[in-house]
Amino acid sequence: MKDRLQYLDFHVAYQLFNAPITVIDCGTKCEPHNPNFKPFCCDICQAVPAAYKDEWTYLRAETDLWHPWRGDECSSNPENPAVLEAETPDSMLLMACLGPQHCQRAYRALSCRQFPFFPYITSDYRFIGLAYEWEFEHTCWVISNLGMVTAEYRQEFIRTYDDLFSKWMRELESYAIRSEQLRSHFSTLKRRITILHRNGEYYLLSPGSDRIAKVIPERLPKFGVYRETV
Ligand code: SF4
Ligand code: SF4
Repeated sequence: MKDRLQYLDFHVAYQLFNAPITVIDCGTKCEPHNPNFKPFCCDICQAVPAAYKDEWTYLRAETDLWHPWRGDECSSNPENPAVLEAETPDSMLLMACLGPQHCQRAYRALSCRQFPFFPYITSDYRFIGLAYEWEFEHTCWVISNLGMVTAEYRQEFIRTYDDLFSKWMRELESYAIRSEQLRSHFSTLKRRITILHRNGEYYLLSPGSDRIAKVIPERLPKFGVYRETV
């Protein structure tokens, strides 16, 4: 499979993937529910970001915001980095930033911009839209409010990954594996997967067949503490 034959300009990629995920600051919605009083996706105790190795080359030359993850950044729960590294694609590095108080928005990694979503790849290798990181169903407010995701954000996400996959085919394979893990997990639970489709609509996808059925976002489930809140 063709891989890394083309250059990806992260300065340009960041400018083209910069739309807010929702019109309100979703961090203000989830932060009160995190005992560490940080948005969950910016709390190194809850989520470890990753960057492409070429992305890290770009970032390290531009900013002091990031460093490779050591595993001891979450003082209440230090981890052996080797464990998570073994689950990380070869093309990526686990990273830690200076934290939300010191975020430099221009230098947010692609993994920050895409959270809580990843590109959904069907079993016949079509990138049809966005699926969410299911481990964060009970912590990320956006997952309980998918109807609030802006059309601009969805378009920028899809354009970014169309471009990335056209240049770095192996990354499509990586997300195909992630999508298969999602199908397997939801099959076990006998649940359908929510897709923010590239055509602008919302669908529920049957994990056994990739068959999709249109749904209005108001009918999508909410989770945990977000069941009761707007
Ligand atoms: S994306 Fe989710 S976890 Fe991150 S700040 Fe928004 S609501 Fe919180
Ligand atoms: S760089 Fe900013 S958006 Fe990304 S994890 Fe750090 S604080 Fe959050």
